[in-house]
Amino acid sequence: MNSVATPAPAGAQTAAGVPFFSQAATFERLWPQIAAHTSDVLERGKYSHGRKVLELERAIAEYTGARHAIAVNNGTDALVLLLRAAGVQRGDEVVVPAFTFAATATSVALAGATPVFADVDPMTYAMDPASFARAVTERTKAVMPAHLFTQLADMDAIGEIAAAHGVTVLEDSAESIGMRWNGKHAGLLGRGGVLSFFPTKTLGAIGDAGMILTDDEEVAERAGILRHHGRMGKTIDHIAGISNLSGASGTNSKMDDIQAAVLLAKLTDLDRDIARRAQLAEAYTERLKDIPGVLRVPTVVERAVPTTPVFYVYEIEVERRDELVAHLTARGIGTETYYPIPLHVQPCFAELGYSEGDFPVAEAACRNAVALPFYPDLTEAQLDLVADAVRDFFQGSQL
Ligand SMILES: *Cc1c(COP(=O)(O)O)cnc(C)c1O
Repeated sequence: MNSVATPAPAGAQTAAGVPFFSQAATFERLWPQIAAHTSDVLERGKYSHGRKVLELERAIAEYTGARHAIAVNNGTDALVLLLRAAGVQRGDEVVVPAFTFAATATSVALAGATPVFADVDPMTYAMDPASFARAVTERTKAVMPAHLFTQLADMDAIGEIAAAHGVTVLEDSAESIGMRWNGKHAGLLGRGGVLSFFPTKTLGAIGDAGMILTDDEEVAERAGILRHHGRMGKTIDHIAGISNLSGASGTNSKMDDIQAAVLLAKLTDLDRDIARRAQLAEAYTERLKDIPGVLRVPTVVERAVPTTPVFYVYEIEVERRDELVAHLTARGIGTETYYPIPLHVQPCFAELGYSEGDFPVAEAACRNAVALPFYPDLTEAQLDLVADAVRDFFQGSQL
């Protein structure tokens, strides 16, 4: 896989290239706000789970409409603690998609339960409700769709199937800040969801940070206890037996205040950044959609209810994907393959007994999909360079 910012190789034809990801211009734009928030942290001297973190929790709760926003160290921890707080334990099964970032499934294993895979929808790349229905057994405790790249899974269909079987709905909404379904923010359509603030995400920190979102009092209380070694408030009773919290030892998953400071600064421009992402996606699509060899450009699916998409990743499917990646790399253009291997055939899940062919849509996406450079400060000239390089690969030089 390519690194986050692929440097132009020596001798590349295009001197400048286009990195897959960069925040440099964003930091320049937001420097006064970042300086104000970070110097506040440095002067106060509380660097971990301090007042900036509480300020960020309030700001994110307001932005998303969540009753509770619980700051933790990263998005993966948020998933593990959400699952445990929702009562998932050893012996339980949790249905997750086969095409997603590994943490959607590894978090289930880390919570002590067993991930059971479902295929994804070819348009949204999110969990296919029919495949979820087929995966339900009497041990299914929860379903956790992941909302990838631009839009939510079909939460009405998934919610209906879950309700019919008494299955808890949780969401891996790590990538989904700003995405909504029928007026509700991602993560709030079941018992809870998460946000990741990993630097490349739509709202990215300068290191690791994450959050749990929930409207559920019980989930919020348990998650808040588990993130700090099972401590309740300032007492040092390490909670050993909160009902239904199997092996209820807590962990250390605090957020750093310096990350909260950067996130508060970036939050002021989040809606502007989301609008810019939509413009860039439209421009890419305009330039790429008719190129033979480009099999698919991102498409927002119409639903029976109003939805709000957010372009987090610009992902296309192409013929000869690996050759295209090599062609772009040679021109100093960074790419990522989200995701290179479907989770059901990852070595860490070998014991679950899945094999190639089980989830054809997930497998095709892993073969054909590639993400192009995409961030709010990408310039039109950079976007043209990328689109021209893709066209050049499939059509040869037209000059
Ligand atoms: C980023 C991401 C995560 C994990 O978040 P981290 O903060 O990197 O731990 C989980 N699931 C999905 C779908 C993600 O994109």
